[in-house]
Amino acid sequence: MNTLEVSLECLIGEQNMQIKILGCNGGIGGMNRRTTCYRIGESILIDAGTGLGDLTLKELEKIDHVVLTHAHWDHISCLPLLPDAVFSMRKSPIKIWALPEVINIIKAHVFNNHVWPDFTKIPIIGSTEPIVALNPLPDANPILIDGVEISKLPANHGIPACGYRVSQEGKAVAFTGDTGDEEQFWKTIASDKAMRAVVVECSYPKSLSELGKMTLHLSTDVASRRLANLPAGIARIIIHRKPGYEEIIDNELKRELGQFDLRFPIPGQEYSF
Ligand SMILES: [Zn+2]
Ligand SMILES: [Zn+2]
Repeated sequence: MNTLEVSLECLIGEQNMQIKILGCNGGIGGMNRRTTCYRIGESILIDAGTGLGDLTLKELEKIDHVVLTHAHWDHISCLPLLPDAVFSMRKSPIKIWALPEVINIIKAHVFNNHVWPDFTKIPIIGSTEPIVALNPLPDANPILIDGVEISKLPANHGIPACGYRVSQEGKAVAFTGDTGDEEQFWKTIASDKAMRAVVVECSYPKSLSELGKMTLHLSTDVASRRLANLPAGIARIIIHRKPGYEEIIDNELKRELGQFDLRFPIPGQEYSF
């Protein structure tokens, strides 16, 4: 690549954080619904729901890190299938990062030689290293993987769970993960000058607000109150809408937040920040 090509790449935003929304729905049902999975650059995933299945084999081979928000099935459903698909191509372990409690759940209930082989014990061909390495996140934030800084953010989901702040080149995007209302999350991102976007779960319409409180998910009334109080420059990206409620959720949020940069991604959508 010559100097001109390099500078052109900079101009068209090659330095930006590239996020591909592989799955962003609160459940399955037809070709347009995939559960949570986001790719940062080419090598990092946040969650591994059914959206992961849309990556080609070549793209799957490049996934070096999977960072999990929690162990609910819609967020890990394709996780066991990843090492199985690429085991003959890997030269190094696929690293799975999560809260220590979540790592223990994955160890006990996924890679346990009952529902699926224990890929943490199966070596890469021609190596002594395993195909999967389970890495509990350290207490201290952030961790740095492949040039991307990742910090835990608080979530309130009734089980071990967290959100994440992901940043690159001084620009940050926050992911709520699954959560009920969590004051500290919103406080933290509102005061973060690097924040460009928040990827926020909104599972239910206002009519199911009580169900949201009970199951520790956000509904449009709670989400719109929180989102209205964020600085205007932050994009609001709505995900995890429960199947069948997408349109009513979109309309309720548009009514309350019409003046903001409000986005409703579909699987396959790419963003650059
Ligand atoms: Zn969940
Ligand atoms: Zn979920």
